[in-house]
Amino acid sequence: MVARGFQSANHPILAQIVPIRRCNLACTYCNEFDKHSPPVALATMRERIDHLARLRTANIEISGGEPMLHPDLDELIRHIRATGALAGLITNGYLLNEKRIERFNNAGLDHLQISIDNVHPDDTSKKSLKVLDAKLRMLATHAAFSVNINSVLGGELSHPGDALTIAKRAIELGLTATVGLIHNGRGRLMPLTPEQLHVYSEITAMTAPFYTVQNQNDFQRNLAFGRPNDWQCGAGGRYLYICEDGLVHWCSQQRGHPGIPLADYTTDDVRRESTSEKSCAPLCTVSCVHRVALLDRIRTQPIEALDEIMPASASGAASVRALRWMFVTSPHHDRFRAVAARLLGSRSASRP
Ligand code: SF4
Ligand code: SF4
Repeated sequence: MVARGFQSANHPILAQIVPIRRCNLACTYCNEFDKHSPPVALATMRERIDHLARLRTANIEISGGEPMLHPDLDELIRHIRATGALAGLITNGYLLNEKRIERFNNAGLDHLQISIDNVHPDDTSKKSLKVLDAKLRMLATHAAFSVNINSVLGGELSHPGDALTIAKRAIELGLTATVGLIHNGRGRLMPLTPEQLHVYSEITAMTAPFYTVQNQNDFQRNLAFGRPNDWQCGAGGRYLYICEDGLVHWCSQQRGHPGIPLADYTTDDVRRESTSEKSCAPLCTVSCVHRVALLDRIRTQPIEALDEIMPASASGAASVRALRWMFVTSPHHDRFRAVAARLLGSRSASRP
């Protein structure tokens, strides 16, 4: 994905697609589910994935609702992989079992994320460690794909210390852990309390895999301390959110902009929206779009960006230094970038 991101700014780095809006849970802070929608037909989803491939999308994540309620989920994963894109899944994990994990392995799933909100289920959320710990152990044993556990801070969640317990458990099991900040109905920051801030600092200070570098970037740190970010949101361009009706939106929190059918979406739309102004950007907490922006910053200002995300004490520092040498400072960085693009199966590497 990084290699493809380096290649050009004219294609989406990440698209999230919704094959079903229905969810088996009902978290009170969530505005992304209903209790009645049917699954989108497999043929329709295949067409959408094919169009994302025509736009040269590097990474396609299946989201919801709860995507494991879709009867053809394995086939969707296979179809994404067949386009050459990475395949990801965002799930509440309730429907996981060993057989489903094996099926995901066979379908070629690349990465899976579960968000866990608390240690014990309460009226706000049933996504609790108590219920899901058995699923995490199953994933740690059987998954051939990477698994990230995202804990959340802020909003109506009443036990901030739970996020630390969840992150520690994920790392103990050999999974990766991240922490997200809860947003309001427009994707904007809800300020953290002093207790929540303390927990946030503890989690981000934990020795953790390189992937958690997203928690050490300025976006999340600024927001945690109530500071706005000055950045270009690439939603609608470098990042796409495709709803169950097949419309392209900036993100799950800004649906209706631009609201164009994916089938009509062109590279010109991608270019325009990558740089369009979004008034919601300064207090935006949508971390996957931050990560896409970070990748673009590495592309345009590599040394400054890698310096920012390379904490001297982090266990991942050596690997980041190696990446920096390979892709930035080495006299052969062009060759490294080209080889990485080929190794990552980038069909787009050979396209103009
Ligand atoms: S499990 Fe996810 S999609 Fe379902 S209600 Fe909770 S946050 Fe929303
Ligand atoms: S800044 Fe971008 S990602 Fe964040 S809420 Fe606005 S459109 Fe969505």
